[in-house]
Amino acid sequence: MPINNYQEQLLPTLKKYFGYDNFREHQEAIITAVLAKKDNLVIIPTGGGKSICYQLPALLFKGTTLVISPLIALMKDQVDGLHANGIAAAYFNSSQTPEEQQQIFEAVHQAQLKLLYIAPESLSIISDIVNENYISCVAIDEAHCISSWGHDFRPSYQQLGFLKRKLSNTPFIALTATADKATREDIITQLHIPNAIQSISSFDRKNIKLDVRPANERASQIIKFIRNKPNEAGIIYCLSRKSTETLAEKLQLNGIKARSYHAGLTFEQRAKTQEDFIFDKIQVVCATIAFGMGIDKSNVRWVIHYNMPKNIEGYYQEIGRSGRDGLEAHALLFHSYADVVQLRNFAEGTSNAEVQLAKLDRMKQFTEATSCRRKILLSYFGELLPDNCGNCDICNNPPEFFNGTVIAQKALSTIVRLKEKAAIGIVIDVLRGAKNTTILNKHYDSIKTYGIGKDISWKDWQHYIIQLINQGYCQIAFHQNNVLQLTAFSKKVLFENERIELTKPITHNSTITTKQKKPKINNTLFERLRVIRQQIALEQNIPAYLVFNDATLKEIETERPMSEKEFLAINGVGQHKLEVYGEAFIKEVIAFTKSKKVSKNKNNTHKFTYELYQQGLTIDEIAEQRKLKATTIYSHIAKLYSDGKTINIYDFVSKHEVEAVKSAQQTLGAPEALKPYFDFFEEQLDYFKIRLALSVIAKEKYLT
Ligand code: ADP
Ligand code: ZN
Repeated sequence: MPINNYQEQLLPTLKKYFGYDNFREHQEAIITAVLAKKDNLVIIPTGGGKSICYQLPALLFKGTTLVISPLIALMKDQVDGLHANGIAAAYFNSSQTPEEQQQIFEAVHQAQLKLLYIAPESLSIISDIVNENYISCVAIDEAHCISSWGHDFRPSYQQLGFLKRKLSNTPFIALTATADKATREDIITQLHIPNAIQSISSFDRKNIKLDVRPANERASQIIKFIRNKPNEAGIIYCLSRKSTETLAEKLQLNGIKARSYHAGLTFEQRAKTQEDFIFDKIQVVCATIAFGMGIDKSNVRWVIHYNMPKNIEGYYQEIGRSGRDGLEAHALLFHSYADVVQLRNFAEGTSNAEVQLAKLDRMKQFTEATSCRRKILLSYFGELLPDNCGNCDICNNPPEFFNGTVIAQKALSTIVRLKEKAAIGIVIDVLRGAKNTTILNKHYDSIKTYGIGKDISWKDWQHYIIQLINQGYCQIAFHQNNVLQLTAFSKKVLFENERIELTKPITHNSTITTKQKKPKINNTLFERLRVIRQQIALEQNIPAYLVFNDATLKEIETERPMSEKEFLAINGVGQHKLEVYGEAFIKEVIAFTKSKKVSKNKNNTHKFTYELYQQGLTIDEIAEQRKLKATTIYSHIAKLYSDGKTINIYDFVSKHEVEAVKSAQQTLGAPEALKPYFDFFEEQLDYFKIRLALSVIAKEKYLT
């Protein structure tokens, strides 16, 4: 087909098979070049939409596009996704039966297969079909793996060099999310595609919110964070196996579906956790760095670094696993002085210690930044962001500077008086006048500056001293037990009264209360659509995000399509998905819209309370909003519960209390009024609890 005929088909094909109305940056140009049989090298960050760059041409070419991919899990996911869009695709691997392999060969011979995925190791088995009669295009995914300059070199990728010799007129497209200049040149040389057109898009992942905090009370901060994101999947990266386990346990105890993942578990255990995560059966994975490679889950909504990563490359790759669907995502990093010390120790044991230490230093600077973090991050990758991003903690909450000269003087003179022989913890203890054994045994309590910094908390002192280190007024002697020492600049503070600017610490409230407002869930249309999506995914045994991604679900929620035509207009709904899934979702939209109208018309006081309850308001908040007494709201809750509404009754009354009321009921002869119970418990059990317990007991009776 001549090229201009293709051109007219691009947008209709994009809509029909992928459900999208417009191309993203670079996609159209790349696709046009591939269709013109030119070679291409594509560098687009994760989630940028690389797959369509070869999947769409594959549909227009006669024959099969061969896709080289490093991991079987990744291939399976891609093939499932293509099937969900009604596209003929398969993957080939050595564990398939000869019959299965034969079927694939036949499909290729008859030009029935649009895409065939294969790992480089298996290429030799299919050499019969690797010729230009059958293969229309070759796509090399994760192309950086071919280069030893890249961060993930795979020797098996090096055999790909022979492909171009066999398929000299076939367009090649190499794709990766990361490749610096040396890696890019290496890819081109090794694949023998010297004239490849290079498309490089920005590294920026605007939708990921960057957030960095000191590592204080991490577990509680994390629990609070997750409670604010019910049903949103996330990954927590930890440095040690042990901490993945203890953290996962803590989260489980707090009712969060979390699991740990690390190299010490069996292959089966790890595979199960990965699958349960992909299929939304668990919400959180606490993992060492090994987790996440080769999963394409588009609805990972957040990533937390429990410990500081050892370099910016790793950090960026890990946070990049969130928000692939382009919707808002959140990356939260905890940093601590202890992590820096530990990471330095790791780095020092390696063969290229100097490079590693320099990289660690850049990581540390990033965590301690006082200006836009995304600017710092992108500049590390050689990209200049003209404006502050507006989506990082610093942009959202700029640090407040104040005159910290006196604080600096107190800290530095304490370092002097400790003869530059104490680490940061002891310096702070002396400043705060602590009375622990180290201080007393060493007679540090007789030092002149002992206790002069009582008015400042331990955490805040740490925050200030780290800033003094960053500004060069003191330093950590990593080779001498990490003691704090002076620098050439210290005397300016100590003797020349140099003015020092420090930033105020930002407090992150980590207290978890049972009153914490639950975000609105359950009764939104989005949640109901999510349930439908999950049912379909389970029936078809594919991950939910392959049915529709979160972005498409969000659009259905706002647009509320009620006909097939309207449904097809949604981004992400192609012809095939309309036919297979359309009905179920349209029905739900109609049902939801109707139910909302009904509940608005009926001015029923219990219903109104129930609506507010479902939106996650606490009893006190409902009472306040309705201008009613809390006891009245509790009586509504008891009634709603008795009526069979979904109420988490044990949020308000404990099982223990219910049991107590039950035995009181027997003793008292089941009186109607509440007062006898109140007296029975000697006024120690609130009326509302008695009422709630009675409705639980009544319901139990009714059910048994
Ligand atoms: P990458 O391989 O670069 O990580 P993907 O190809 O997996 O990215 O695409 C990421 C997400 O963006 C997918 O959910 C995909 O369906 C979606 N996407 C790709 N192209 C478009 C487009 N033109 N419009 C809207 N969404 C798109
Ligand atoms: Zn910013």
